[in-house]
Amino acid sequence: MPNIAVIGAGVNGVASAIRLLEHYVQEARRPIRVTIISEDFTPNTTGDGSAGLWGPYLLGGTSQSKVHKWSRSMHRFLEQIWLSEDAAEAGVCLLPCIRLTTSTVDTVGDFWRDIVYGAVDLSKDQLAAYNKGRSYMFTSGISFVTYTSEPVKLLPYLMKRFIRNGGLVVRQRITDLEAFIADSEYDVIVNCTGLGSRSLLNDDQMYAVRGQVSRVKASWIFSAVLDESDDGNYIIPNTESVVLGGTHQERDYNTQVCQQDRRMIVDGCRRYIPGLEHTECLHDWVGLRPGRTQLRLEAERRGRKLLVHNYGHGGSGVTLCWGCADEVLDILLAAQSGAKL
Ligand SMILES: Cc1cc2nc3c(=O)[nH]c(=O)nc-3n(C[C@H](O)[C@H](O)[C@H](O)COP(=O)(O)OP(=O)(O)OC[C@H]3O[C@@H](n4cnc5c(N)ncnc54)[C@H](O)[C@@H]3O)c2cc1C
Repeated sequence: MPNIAVIGAGVNGVASAIRLLEHYVQEARRPIRVTIISEDFTPNTTGDGSAGLWGPYLLGGTSQSKVHKWSRSMHRFLEQIWLSEDAAEAGVCLLPCIRLTTSTVDTVGDFWRDIVYGAVDLSKDQLAAYNKGRSYMFTSGISFVTYTSEPVKLLPYLMKRFIRNGGLVVRQRITDLEAFIADSEYDVIVNCTGLGSRSLLNDDQMYAVRGQVSRVKASWIFSAVLDESDDGNYIIPNTESVVLGGTHQERDYNTQVCQQDRRMIVDGCRRYIPGLEHTECLHDWVGLRPGRTQLRLEAERRGRKLLVHNYGHGGSGVTLCWGCADEVLDILLAAQSGAKL
């Protein structure tokens, strides 16, 4: 029976653990033991402060075809939840979005537009309306419908699913990964420690991408606006609050709320929706995205044991978690059948 440790309880650790467990228990009907080992759990992981909007963002040089495959898998997973009785508990919502770009700054592009629902280009008149009174001009924009799955709800839902299927949970900080692999009883170790991998593996390709957001009470906002220009703002409704963003400061490790960033966020978002002027601020939040030159999803053999890395998801950890979990399962099955890693 495989005895698997998944290190990390953010969206990627929990998705990987549940994907492995549910495959063995429900699909293959074979015994398995999966334990999530983590220093921290929801609501204290990076995803917990995020809006959990589906959409590839800040992924370094990760291959576009892989991002397309992984993000499509998550979209389908969210669709299944949305169509089930679990949607409310899991915090999964369908959301109309407008995404605006300038020709000079569109680091991601919209190569994913076949995945979302009803993507159409904005007309010249629609663009002109968004450009009114701006210091820079949007050259294109699309409207589409996709999902939000706010991790502060998605993670407890997934943890419940994990435990219901027999998953185990241990609170522990791993300080020496090699010693842990050598000394523990686990034969497969899945490393999903996000930015923690920087020190755990001395991975100098990892860096923080600081993100500050404000959560406000504005139950009258039903759609998202995403300005993809470099210092652009975004407005993303969740079930009980609306997330106003945001910053993406590379190699900035400051987890304190910065008043200057707050001004940029609040003033910038009010330019899109002036009614935000009179909304109550619930709280400001800073998270450090696990940035990397490219996402690391690969396996290494350690004697008879297998170490699988799944970290470096930048600004898209929620968007990619289910697709990356699929890949972790594929890697494990291939390794068990003796395939070359
Ligand atoms: C402001 C902001 C907004 C965002 N918005 C979105 C969005 O709308 N959509 C989207 O897709 N993504 C978004 N993201 C990105 C997303 O939140 C991250 O990519 C994602 O949370 C990373 O998840 P993870 O599981 O890889 O890492 P983490 O959530 O950081 O989890 C790492 C886990 O590993 C544990 N750990 C670390 N080191 C150790 C150790 N040594 N021993 C034991 N345990 C350890 C931690 O306790 C934690 O449980 C946003 C991020 C920010 C900051």
